[in-house]
Amino acid sequence: MKLSGLGEFGLIGWIREQFAAIPTHGCEGIGDDCAVLPFNEHESLVVTTDLLVEDIHFLRTKTPPKDLGYKSLAVNLSDVAAMGATPIASFLSIALPQNCSAEWIETFMEGYRELSAQFGVPLLGGDTTSSKDRITISVTAMGKVTTSCIKRRGDAQVDDVIFVTGELGASAQGLQDLLAEKTDSSFISLHNCPKPFIKEGIWLSKKTSVHAMMDVSDGIASDLGHILRASGCGAEVSVDMIPTNTSVELAVTGGEDYCLLFTANATDALVLQQEYLKTFGTPLYPIGKISAGDQIIWKDHGNVIYPQWKGFTHF
Ligand code: ADP
Ligand code: MG
Repeated sequence: MKLSGLGEFGLIGWIREQFAAIPTHGCEGIGDDCAVLPFNEHESLVVTTDLLVEDIHFLRTKTPPKDLGYKSLAVNLSDVAAMGATPIASFLSIALPQNCSAEWIETFMEGYRELSAQFGVPLLGGDTTSSKDRITISVTAMGKVTTSCIKRRGDAQVDDVIFVTGELGASAQGLQDLLAEKTDSSFISLHNCPKPFIKEGIWLSKKTSVHAMMDVSDGIASDLGHILRASGCGAEVSVDMIPTNTSVELAVTGGEDYCLLFTANATDALVLQQEYLKTFGTPLYPIGKISAGDQIIWKDHGNVIYPQWKGFTHF
């Protein structure tokens, strides 16, 4: 069997099955943005890990090391935020080839430290090694959350409103502009330095009207699919409601936006939108609703459309 036949999520599902018989001691494992480990009677720890590989996730010649340092941590803090947790620590493992300069790693650490300081997240450990010719970065982040406030992918309910907390497609457009060497593009900094929605995630975690939540890493065509599979429901998405300054296709398939995608009780949705706007000064964007069924029905100004959109996947 080739990896391309199995696909990224097929492979993860297969790995999960191999370990299904081993008891988890009350922990929740593979399948959500973070694993959940009970901490005490009322609180849990959440843990996530992400890998960034040179020439797959970044190009050394195109991405400033300071931005990459920031992004390596940001994508992990985004997964902590997606559970509604407060980040409390990170761990950083790096494999560096001989041809990587000391200046590169110094500047990389500057970006990593800047975001750590911004959210008061200490770096508590990691590992350092050489590599043959590519840089590999692995970050693990931990967070703490009141157990009853945890937001999982599997809690969407039929008739919930689907929201995103930010614009979609900008990061993917930034990547295209970066590769085309359009240095004046404002999208590039959004691709290189995505904002993790940490305060917003913590705030949303305290709202009982908020049901399922995750962050957008692969594009909503794929990510909303994860919520639907985990929750056993379908969705209707109005493409004309999607907040974007790019093409709709890039907005739903591009990924790496790292805003939050969540569902909320329809009765409370308007109040939630008003309170959120008052608290953060930026809007929540409703893009559709959860329905019975098991797939996404795309609509454009009320008319059903049949695009062949798929989010990003390795293999
Ligand atoms: P995210 O985009 O939120 O980081 P992923 O799509 O990378 O999530 O992973 C989905 C789920 O699969 C997560 O719970 C993650 O921990 C788990 N996962 C991914 N790769 C592996 C692996 N090699 N072994 C075990 N679990 C994995
Ligand atoms: Mg995620």
